[in-house]
Amino acid sequence: MADIKELRCVIGGCAYAIDEVAYTCPRHGELGTLDILYDYEALRASLDRDALTADCSSDCWRYRALLPISSASRVPPLAVGWTPLYEAPQIASAFGLDRVWVKDDGANPTGSLKDRASALVLARALEAGINVVSTASTGNAAAALAGLGASLPEIETIIFVPAAAPAAKVAQLLVYGARVLLVDGSYDDAFELCLAICEEQGWYSRNTGVNPFTTEGKKTVALEIAEQLRWNAPDVVVASVGDGSIISGVHKGFCDLTRLGWIERMPRLIGVQAEGSAALADAFAAGLEPGAIGRRPVATIADSIASELPRDRAKALRAVRSSGGAFVKVSDAAISAAIPRFAQLSGVFAEPAAAAAFAGLERAVHSKLIQADESVCLLSTGNGLKDIARARQSVSGGIPVAPDIAAVRRALGSAGLI
Ligand SMILES: *Cc1c(COP(=O)(O)O)cnc(C)c1O
Ligand SMILES: [Zn+2]
Repeated sequence: MADIKELRCVIGGCAYAIDEVAYTCPRHGELGTLDILYDYEALRASLDRDALTADCSSDCWRYRALLPISSASRVPPLAVGWTPLYEAPQIASAFGLDRVWVKDDGANPTGSLKDRASALVLARALEAGINVVSTASTGNAAAALAGLGASLPEIETIIFVPAAAPAAKVAQLLVYGARVLLVDGSYDDAFELCLAICEEQGWYSRNTGVNPFTTEGKKTVALEIAEQLRWNAPDVVVASVGDGSIISGVHKGFCDLTRLGWIERMPRLIGVQAEGSAALADAFAAGLEPGAIGRRPVATIADSIASELPRDRAKALRAVRSSGGAFVKVSDAAISAAIPRFAQLSGVFAEPAAAAAFAGLERAVHSKLIQADESVCLLSTGNGLKDIARARQSVSGGIPVAPDIAAVRRALGSAGLI
């Protein structure tokens, strides 16, 4: 394990030892999320990025030396991380950019980037000997916890989801054998209930923006992007944002690499929000501090980025501001149109929240937030099969045809295909 120097509160800089606090800063409450900081001097001396390149393990545990679990700790056996980074020349030329890569995190075991956080949280639960792990989720964090939990015999998972979560996501939870509470309310209602019962029952809480291990898990996506680009960071990383935990993790990963001297500079981070769930984008535009963000109603087809009160608001605002990046907002119509367009320009089928990043890239290019000669990594956070109903609404139908060859010729003729 990397030597942990301290857990540091993002609001007040309050410092704690690793075993002193489990979730957020006792002085600053829910807003005081914690950064896990290492002894970077020691890491610089003991680690060698070229040795890492020679490591042929193909999951996120190749970065164990940069993670807050011990080298001997058990981890879930499913292969989380080391997802493909595709160069996407068709997207680059569609937007007039030099180079674009797509990091396809929909290729994770349960189909989203959330596997990275759940994997680390479960490793931590195993270390601590806690068998019940719980989370609230719009769907993906829950699927990640349920699926990876199912791969560990002693772990039981208890999940709180809004009853309106997409059917495929709820099915995934039930198939994995999680105990599922379908909350007749919003994601934020589910979140508050989950926090309260975890505290009451002593269960381990995986909740986003509460458990600092989630950021450390999510940072592995940034470590991979840099390594897959031979230890170069792209100029810009574009990611969709709901609670703000993914973009905070991306930021932490690149920060750690900068502190180690493994990359020369931080990429600018562009966070993409749905117009109907844009607390962070609006706070960024208005120059607000995270403490000034209040809970407000949300409405978007991109359920994974619907958040009434972004739980990782402090880290997310800091990530985007300190990287010199920006937030952009995209409409549901743009998100829906992005699903087939992204797929047809890259072969990557993304769920609405992930396709939002593609729509945001287009918006950012048009707003001159990205220049033509810059390199861009587009983070595709979740698999398109997660929400087939929305995907189906974004495309027109196939061509009905009778089962005979003459009818096929006629149909192809009227479609202009022959
Ligand atoms: C969770 C999620 C996001 C947003 O991540 P936050 O940490 O909530 O900002 C984006 N896309 C997908 C597919 C997700 O599951
Ligand atoms: Zn504090």
